[in-house]
Amino acid sequence: MRVVVDKDKCTGCGECRDVCPKGPKIWKINGKAEANNLRYCHVCTLCASKCPERAITVIRDEENGEKEEASA
Ligand code: SF4
Ligand code: SF4
Repeated sequence: MRVVVDKDKCTGCGECRDVCPKGPKIWKINGKAEANNLRYCHVCTLCASKCPERAITVIRDEENGEKEEASA
């Protein structure tokens, strides 16, 4: 799976890290947000739903191709 941040929209506010159950493990905010260590990700899609800029897309890869799990 992937957590994609649209860097053009991201303001680096840190909301994604704050709402993520594994925030400090996954999110690095350095001007722009970046999701790492996705083995910790629950695919809860909270980050995508709470991003004020709607910059995050959580994509779950499935056997029969990609399915978009949550589009902010
Ligand atoms: S919540 Fe959205 S705008 Fe804020 S840092 Fe995360 S990705 Fe960027
Ligand atoms: S989907 Fe949930 S666990 Fe995964 S990065 Fe977003 S908030 Fe964190």
